[in-house]
Amino acid sequence: MSMRMWMLPPEMMCRKHLLGEHVEMHMLVGTIRKGISTQGYIDNGLVELDRIQERHDALVKEMESRGYNHKSPLPEIPQIEGDFGTVDREESLREICRRCDDCRLRSTTRGSWA
Ligand SMILES: [Zn+2]
Ligand SMILES: [Zn+2]
Repeated sequence: MSMRMWMLPPEMMCRKHLLGEHVEMHMLVGTIRKGISTQGYIDNGLVELDRIQERHDALVKEMESRGYNHKSPLPEIPQIEGDFGTVDREESLREICRRCDDCRLRSTTRGSWA
C-alpha cells in the first residue's frame, strides 16, 4: 500500500495526483484506525499525521472547485501519540515534477505556498 501526503498547493496538482492524495488520506485514516503502524511513512517523510484532516479538507476544497464529487466524509482520526512526521515540501515538489508532466506544468503557473 502506498500513501503519501504531498503537502503541495492543491491547485497546482493534476487531477490524478489531487484525487490520488485524497484517496490516500482516507486510506491513511483507515490504517491508523486499524492500529496498523505508520512508522515507515513517518520515517520516510511521507506523512504529517497531525495534519490529515486539514490536508484532506484542502484537497476536497480544490476538488469541489473543479467540479469533482466528494461523497464520503473522513472518519474520525484516533488520537495519535508520538511522532507525527514531517514532509519536506521542496523535495515533494521536485519528486512530483519528476514523476508527472502535468503537475510540473501546473506548478509553473499555479499554486502558492500558503
Ligand atoms: Zn474525503
Ligand atoms: Zn500529477
